[in-house]
Amino acid sequence: MALRKKTGSTPCIGCGQLVAVTDKTCFRCGRRLPSLYGFSPTLRKWGPDLGFVPLVIVACALLYVFSLAFSFLAGLEPARPAGFLQVLAPSTEVLFLLGATGSIPVFEYGRWWTVLSSAWLHGGLLHIVFNMLWIRMLAPGIAQVFGPGRLVIIYTLSAIAGGVATTVVSAHFPDLPGPLRGASLSIGASGAVFGLLGAVIQYGKKAGAHVAGQQAWALAAVLFVFGLLMPGVDNWGHLGGFVGGYGTAWVLDPRRPERGYHMVFAAGCLLLSLLSVIASVVHAYRPL
Ligand SMILES: [Zn+2]
Repeated sequence: MALRKKTGSTPCIGCGQLVAVTDKTCFRCGRRLPSLYGFSPTLRKWGPDLGFVPLVIVACALLYVFSLAFSFLAGLEPARPAGFLQVLAPSTEVLFLLGATGSIPVFEYGRWWTVLSSAWLHGGLLHIVFNMLWIRMLAPGIAQVFGPGRLVIIYTLSAIAGGVATTVVSAHFPDLPGPLRGASLSIGASGAVFGLLGAVIQYGKKAGAHVAGQQAWALAAVLFVFGLLMPGVDNWGHLGGFVGGYGTAWVLDPRRPERGYHMVFAAGCLLLSLLSVIASVVHAYRPL
C-alpha cells in the first residue's frame, strides 16, 4: 500500500471518520487538513493512538534491557528487591544515570528534568510488564475519546506531575511513615498510568459516560491501595500522576474535538521526553 494517498477517501487523522483526501476540514470533528496531505491512512493503521502505545512499550523495553545489560557488564550490584516488582532489577547507579527522579537526583544533583525521564525507566521485570499492560489497556480508549495528540499530552503531563509530587514530598516531608513517604529515587510509568485513569474519570463526568468513570475510580482505588500495601511502591508518584491526568483532562475537555495544535504540543512532549533521557546521560558524564 502506498505511503501517501492522493485520491479517494481516507480516515480523519483525529477522529477516524472517513473524509475525502481533498477535504479541507473533517465534517465530524472539525479538524483542518483531516487527511494530513494523504498520510492519514498510513498513520491510522497504527490504531486510534497512531502508534503511541507501541512506541511507549518499545522505548521502555529498550531502556529496561539496556539498563539491565549495562548493570551486568559494569559489574554493578542490582538494586535489592523491596518486593516482587523489583525482581530482575538494574543497578541503582545505572537507573540514576539514565534519569531516575526523586529528592536525591533533583535536590542534591540538580537533575530537575528527571521528573520526566524517570517515567521511561523501570526497576524490575514485573514493574515494566504491569505498567505496559495497563497502558495497552487504557491508552487506545483515551485516544478514541480525546484524540491521539491529547493522549500524548495527558500521558506526559501525568508523568511529570507524578515525578514532581514524589520529589517534593520526599524533600520536604522526609519523616513521613513508610508508604506515605515520597521517593528519594523513583522510576516507572505508573504515574502516567494513574493519569490515564484520571482522564477516564474526567471523560465519564464530562461526557456522561458514568459506567466508564465508575470503573476507572474503582481501578484507581484498588491499584492505589495495592501500592500502599506493597513495599517499594512510589505512592506519591501514583497520586501526583492521577491528579495530573485528571487536571489535564479537565482542561482538555473531551467534549471539544482535538485540534491540530494539540498534535504539535504532543510532538513537543515526545521530543522533551527524548531530550530528558539524553540530558540525564550527558549530565552524568559531564566533566566535573
Ligand atoms: Zn475528524
